Amino acid sequence: MTAATHSSPFPQVPDSPDAVLAGLDPEQREVATALHGPVCVLAGAGTGKTRAITHRIAYGVRAGILQPASVLAVTFTNRAAGEMRGRLRELGAGGVQARTFHSAALRQLQYFWPKAVGGDLPRLVERKVQLVAEAAARCRIRLDRNELRDVTGEIEWAKVTQTVPADYPAAAVKAGREAPRDPAEISQVYGLYEQLKRDRAMIDFEDVLLLTVGILQDRHDIADQIRRQYQHFVVDEYQDVSPLQQRLLELWLGDRDSLCVVGDASQTIYSFTGATPDHLLNFRTRHPDATVVKLVRDYRSTPQVVHLANGLLGQAEGRAAEHRLELISQREPGPDPAYTEYADEPAEAEGTARRIRDLIAAGVPAGEIAVLYRINAQSEVYEQALADIGVPYQLRGAERFFERQEVRKAIAGLRSAARFGDNDPLLDDVVDLPSQVRAVLSGNGWSTQPPAGSGAVRDQWESLAALVRLSEDFTKARGSATLSDLITELDERAAAQHAPTVQGVTLASLHAAKGLEWDAVFLVGLTEGMMPITYAKTDEQVEEERRLLYVGVTRARLHLNLSWALSRSPGGRAGRRPSRFLNGLRPGSPATGTRGGAVDAGGVERGSGRKRGRRGPVQCRVCGRTLTDAGEMKLMRCEDCPSDMDEALYERLREWRVGQAKELGQPAFCVFTDKTLMAIAEAVPGSEAELQQISGVGGRKVERFGTDVLAICAGEELGGVDEED
Ligand code: ATP
Ligand code: MG
Repeated sequence: MTAATHSSPFPQVPDSPDAVLAGLDPEQREVATALHGPVCVLAGAGTGKTRAITHRIAYGVRAGILQPASVLAVTFTNRAAGEMRGRLRELGAGGVQARTFHSAALRQLQYFWPKAVGGDLPRLVERKVQLVAEAAARCRIRLDRNELRDVTGEIEWAKVTQTVPADYPAAAVKAGREAPRDPAEISQVYGLYEQLKRDRAMIDFEDVLLLTVGILQDRHDIADQIRRQYQHFVVDEYQDVSPLQQRLLELWLGDRDSLCVVGDASQTIYSFTGATPDHLLNFRTRHPDATVVKLVRDYRSTPQVVHLANGLLGQAEGRAAEHRLELISQREPGPDPAYTEYADEPAEAEGTARRIRDLIAAGVPAGEIAVLYRINAQSEVYEQALADIGVPYQLRGAERFFERQEVRKAIAGLRSAARFGDNDPLLDDVVDLPSQVRAVLSGNGWSTQPPAGSGAVRDQWESLAALVRLSEDFTKARGSATLSDLITELDERAAAQHAPTVQGVTLASLHAAKGLEWDAVFLVGLTEGMMPITYAKTDEQVEEERRLLYVGVTRARLHLNLSWALSRSPGGRAGRRPSRFLNGLRPGSPATGTRGGAVDAGGVERGSGRKRGRRGPVQCRVCGRTLTDAGEMKLMRCEDCPSDMDEALYERLREWRVGQAKELGQPAFCVFTDKTLMAIAEAVPGSEAELQQISGVGGRKVERFGTDVLAICAGEELGGVDEED
């Protein structure tokens, strides 16, 4: 795998601050050179947000405007933080802290705990779900596996929104959460969970942030010390910031304004944990003097991949969707996305493995291929299939490279060989560095050929193979490098957590794939129930699932494969259906009318009404041009092609919407967007089925508003909705 911010292992360090800016487009350069005051970058997937902020930090450091130690860059995963540190180092700006919110907070907490509280920092809870189960049992509340997962999620949500147990029921109602159990019961379990932690002197993941926030709020001396250290803040993937992380960021910042945030509301995939894109979307309101930059050129993916991504977003709804940004591919055309239906899951895994083998045979490196799924439990059948066919793979979220036992042992071996120098009998007659490395590792039992089979043995072999490759690249880049030079390089990389690329197909969940990219991506298991996942019940939850698929699609540079299986096991009932999100996008799929919440979860297609024949790309129904703009796709015609809209009907619908929005206490677009109302006023549907054919009208909306809308379309007077309130 190559992470988005990573290029060749040993690129030339730019020789001047200006050289850092080369390779950025004008908008990216604007981001990189806006080193004072607040900066906000709103941009779609693959447009170079991460690249722009990494270059911004490097430019600031190289130009002497930012002190490396005064910059704190925050990203969402340890992996992304590691990539960023590596990239900064390559740009000549090592020494900048790039961390997750969690690891930055943990580090500060460990440092200040003795002073703020006394004693050592409590231990971290390792198995939260188990502790929640224990708390529930003590409350005599029986939770099945799914409920346990959901209740744990509710506790996490409560904590990141800083809701105490007693306030949970009211807060959950206010936030419109569908509690998996009686809120009073959840509140009870939550209370006891907190008590168990206290009794055992333990803290959980959320406590790390809560305690840091608490200390920074109460102890001005400590807050001042941290603020003296960190003066400039950069946050990647800001659309997924939780209220608690936002609070922490504000406390770090104090009354200063050197804050640069980048994000894409269409990639919000952590709302279920309490995260919200509002902080990103309202940045200008909170910082009126902010420099706001938009990037639209997609440097990552081919026009074919981008077309599908835009199509998926074109069907999205909700606040994040209102801010969607149409992507424009900068790359040469590539293959069309492939859609494959399989009879059962093992067949899907085997078929995927075969295609991967073919890609590798055609020259795509294994490290440039990923299989992405909705939940981790899906990985096993793919591990098996890849092992059977002899393709190496690696699981995301595995232990950090330099902390792996075999890597530590290997580096210890290399270190002692370096110390012996010429006197090491193992290295007699071995002149070049890579051969020396291979010789030392062979002494540790490593062989140049991979072991047969899969599992831990293969995994360890891959780690050591990555070290050998690193030594080869290092020799190529540095000419006459010695073993001691390599040790220095490895020590620096270990300190910076700059892991070498391990070869092997990546198996990862869609959530873990955020921010990364590969030449070939396989999105597997795309069935109703898995995508969207069964427990996505509300419209908002279903929209988040759609965004998750969008994140998956936009990870691919060139090859994109989407697949699903009709039954779980061979010979089973073929009762599964492909994901509703692909309707209207994959060839041969039904029109986009089957979305919605739980009511539609079975995916039963309805409507015998006027089919609009939305197969493949959406075309203007007036002039026939292929549409790419999300708004135009909703209208199903070019913005400036003549409209047959009933203007008076449109106005009546808008009036009605005002009343509905008021009644629901939500913004008008939550009822229907303007574009959807226009589409309704053009189509004048005569039945629920016809109404549901209109893009932007899901099952839920038909259920909620269908009667009203059809009545308005039929010219009937409504019973005074507008006058209420
Ligand atoms: P995501 O939303 O998925 O996090 P992103 O906006 O952060 O994406 P990057 O990962 O920074 O995008 O960039 C995507 C890819 O495009 C990377 O391979 C990056 O190196 C490349 N890229 C970005 N900008 C340019 C540019 N100006 N010239 C060439 N390549 C670029
Ligand atoms: Mg990024």
